[in-house]
Amino acid sequence: MQKRFSPFFALLCVLALLIGCTAASSTADEPSPPPQPEQSNTQDTAPENIPVILPEIEPEVVPQPKPELEPQPEPEPEPEVIPEPEPEPQPAPEPEPEPEPEPEPEPEPAPKLLTTLMYHDFIESGTPPTDWVVTAETFREDLQWLKGNGYTTVLPRELAAGQLDNGEPLPEKLVMLTFDDGYTSNLTIALPILQEFGAKAAVALIGHHIDTGEPGFLTWEQCRTMQASGCFEFGSHTYDHHIREGITGVARLDGEAQDAYTVRIGEDIAKSVEVIEAQLGANVNYFAYPLGKVDPWANDIMAEHFTVTVTSKTGKADINDGLYRLPRYNVTENERAALFVK
Ligand SMILES: [Zn+2]
Repeated sequence: MQKRFSPFFALLCVLALLIGCTAASSTADEPSPPPQPEQSNTQDTAPENIPVILPEIEPEVVPQPKPELEPQPEPEPEPEVIPEPEPEPQPAPEPEPEPEPEPEPEPEPAPKLLTTLMYHDFIESGTPPTDWVVTAETFREDLQWLKGNGYTTVLPRELAAGQLDNGEPLPEKLVMLTFDDGYTSNLTIALPILQEFGAKAAVALIGHHIDTGEPGFLTWEQCRTMQASGCFEFGSHTYDHHIREGITGVARLDGEAQDAYTVRIGEDIAKSVEVIEAQLGANVNYFAYPLGKVDPWANDIMAEHFTVTVTSKTGKADINDGLYRLPRYNVTENERAALFVK
């Protein structure tokens, strides 16, 4: 059989050649593909005049062998990280307390000096005075001097309250006028002079003398007149323990037991307070020791009834130290207020 060279076959050959060249040029560095099986150049099955349409042959793609990768060393397993235990939270250290500063010692309050003057009876000028009686002229001159030198007269209740009756603080220059025994002249002579200078005085009454109408002593009615003036504060000078046979104020008797003393003095003092308060309708807080006699056995009785007590011991008081047993100066014609107050 005569071989015929089919044009189709020639086309096929050219195509195969082209594919081979292309593959060779694009894989020059790659391993050569396996050889293509030779195409048979004989197509003896196709009828002569019938064009044979061959399906396009896809060039077989030969899987390229993957270059063997060098075995990588297995990565060393990372060492297991053991978490360090978290430190136990430490409590914040408490700040050391600052040492408390030593309290500064309280400064000593400045002394608040009080001069207390003692008067008893008054007489009109021109009458001979005694150690227990001063003339109206002398008393007026004393008050003139006190006022001219800036002194303020205070009452026991004002000392106890720490302020004047009008609410003002206690001034620096203080003086307390005290009248003992309760003489009628306290009203008739002293009151007008006190009013003249705007001064005040504390009067210590002997209740028994008023109740029995002793001559020369105030009556309750007169006391009420004085009280109404606002110039006086009334206090106790005992009810009936001033000066009489065997009695010298609140001093204990010879051989007296304390129980008996407490009853005797306690009852007298209580009565003196009751009668004044009943007659004058005012609280009694002030006591003047008759003859200046004090007795420690009387201290509780005094504290029960009074806030201010005065003796006859001379000197000035620092009222920061208390208001019991305040010293006093007795004013006479020869020893005047100015002598003691300066
Ligand atoms: Zn007296």
